[in-house]
Amino acid sequence: MSKKAGCRVRVVVRLRPVLDEKERCKEPCVRGIDEKHLEIFNWRNDQETIKYNFDAFYSERSSQEDIYQDSVEPLLKHTLNGQNASVFAYGPTFAGKTFTMIGCASDVGIIPRSVNKLLSIINAEQSSTDEWNYTVNFSYLEIYQEKVYDLLEPKNHDLLIREDRERNIFIPGLAEKEITSFEQFQKLFIPASHKRTTASTKLNSRSSRSHAILLLKIVRVQQVAPFKKLTGKLFLIDLAGSEDNRRTGNHGIRLKESGAINVSLFSLGQVVDALNQGLPRIPYRDSKLTRLLQDSLGGTAHACMITNIAPEEKHYSDTYSTLNFAAKSRHIINKPFTRESTEKPKRASKRKSSEESYTLKTPPKIPRRTPDMLLTNTPFVTVRKDSAKPKNSLQPFLSPFLRRQANFAESVVTRLEILEQSILSQMRPPVEERIPEQTEQEDLLRQLEESRQQLKLLQEQNQKLKEQRLSELQNEQNSTSDCLFQKIPLVKKKSAAKLVDKSNSADGSGQPVKTKKALQNVNTQSPDLQFVKIVHTDSQHGKENVTDPGQQKGWAVKLNRELQDKHNSEILHILNTGTVKQLKSLQSIGEKRANLIHGWRETHGTFSKVEDLQRVHGLTKKTVESIVKNNLLSKLMFQ
Ligand code: ADP
Ligand code: MG
Repeated sequence: MSKKAGCRVRVVVRLRPVLDEKERCKEPCVRGIDEKHLEIFNWRNDQETIKYNFDAFYSERSSQEDIYQDSVEPLLKHTLNGQNASVFAYGPTFAGKTFTMIGCASDVGIIPRSVNKLLSIINAEQSSTDEWNYTVNFSYLEIYQEKVYDLLEPKNHDLLIREDRERNIFIPGLAEKEITSFEQFQKLFIPASHKRTTASTKLNSRSSRSHAILLLKIVRVQQVAPFKKLTGKLFLIDLAGSEDNRRTGNHGIRLKESGAINVSLFSLGQVVDALNQGLPRIPYRDSKLTRLLQDSLGGTAHACMITNIAPEEKHYSDTYSTLNFAAKSRHIINKPFTRESTEKPKRASKRKSSEESYTLKTPPKIPRRTPDMLLTNTPFVTVRKDSAKPKNSLQPFLSPFLRRQANFAESVVTRLEILEQSILSQMRPPVEERIPEQTEQEDLLRQLEESRQQLKLLQEQNQKLKEQRLSELQNEQNSTSDCLFQKIPLVKKKSAAKLVDKSNSADGSGQPVKTKKALQNVNTQSPDLQFVKIVHTDSQHGKENVTDPGQQKGWAVKLNRELQDKHNSEILHILNTGTVKQLKSLQSIGEKRANLIHGWRETHGTFSKVEDLQRVHGLTKKTVESIVKNNLLSKLMFQ
């Protein structure tokens, strides 16, 4: 059984130089403090700054070589040892992601530097020893409007993303090109890069509107016993920026592109949150991007996130939300493991299907983050044995001996090897029959365990919500809080209908006591309010009824336009500045919606009007209208 190991995602920040001549004389909105710290001015109080601590901070003076040497090259060795590694550039448009990943002809970026380095290590090793044989394949794809496109074979588009039994993410049909030299790589990579879907926006004349992912697969096969086969992957990812559509002047197809990009980036935020909270279910499947990054975030890869930011004040809100996202990504712990199998040379093997027998089939479980780990931000590291072997492994006991006997005639060696194979195959249980069964069983057990944990967690959350709601209701009844928008228990249809019965009403007027009091308040204290109707006449029966305040019918609130605007701007203020708790103080906004709104704000900045709430994933036009209406009514009733 392999021991567990975890390593935190390395999160670094790179600040690009000021590019805009007009901005050069102005004070930048963000500046570095030292090699790990930076600060940005606080928009709530311009006398203050907000400080951040990352694994590394690269100032505007840092070079491509600095960032590559320090944060990327150390990851490459893992891919030669059968592990996965990922480097991805995150940040708003025009902050320098593509420059960092690809660079320019005079100063190349991380992708060319990494490929060049890996190929030169491999070539040097192959010319010094025959022990290992290497194959390097590369694929290049983009995710554009939630569809996967093959940049090496343009006819392949809208490809599916799949997961195999060993939980490896793969894309069936994606082209893989073998490369043995850097020149070969460049010939394929440069034209493919130009194929990336680009479009002009006000912000960036060659803005990449898609997420581009370059995958290098390195297979290393041992030519002598024990014939190990190691498969490592390197993902180099240039993410598209999330733009504020109002600022870029996007409309039509561009607006749709931004929307699709934002779904992916929003899901990325959700995944990061779920990982940080140690939830049993991580919503990787919510977007193509997160599905593909599954290996890089809380998965099995060594990962480095390069957060690109711009110094100009006009990019302040993007920079601020990007830094907040990067800060929370620091808590993610990945669990690297080695993909190792043994591969017999063809000459020694009688059966094709027995060429490969996996010695480590099941990816290790990712350790659950405990609150301690989150608070201290300490990498969680335990030691594990990467090349675990099955208990009954019969790793070669004859072949090494045979290989040493150079004086044997070739025909004798062949016959002895055939004999050895037949002895081995009788002694060893058939690999392909045993392992799938075992893996399947382990998979099912793991799924069952995960479902149980998820169920338990949901039950606990449900209980907490119930208790919280109960105490909120009690508080509302006991005291008048100074909160702007008070939660009011809405009058239910049936009980309200009973209350209109004059004989049953406390003051004989036929109106629910609380509602009437509120109405009196409204009418006497709000001269701007022209008419509030709660009781309406049923035209068929001529009776009075009280209608559910949540419904349109039966209510007619005519407000002074100015007053309505004032209420909307008060709601907007809370939406833009409130904490999750404060958001929950709004009518019709519970824990889930408050989190959605807060998350959206972190990624996209502020709302310009209340109706913008519709842009939050999961909030429909109808929901937003009802949120606005309920808050307005609550405010009027408790004024
Ligand atoms: P993104 O991919 O994030 O949209 P780009 O990589 O296209 O941003 O960068 C925007 C502009 O800034 C480009 O003109 C690029 O050459 C320039 N740039 C970005 N980072 C740097 C840097 N570190 N040094 C010099 N120029 C940079
Ligand atoms: Mg770009």
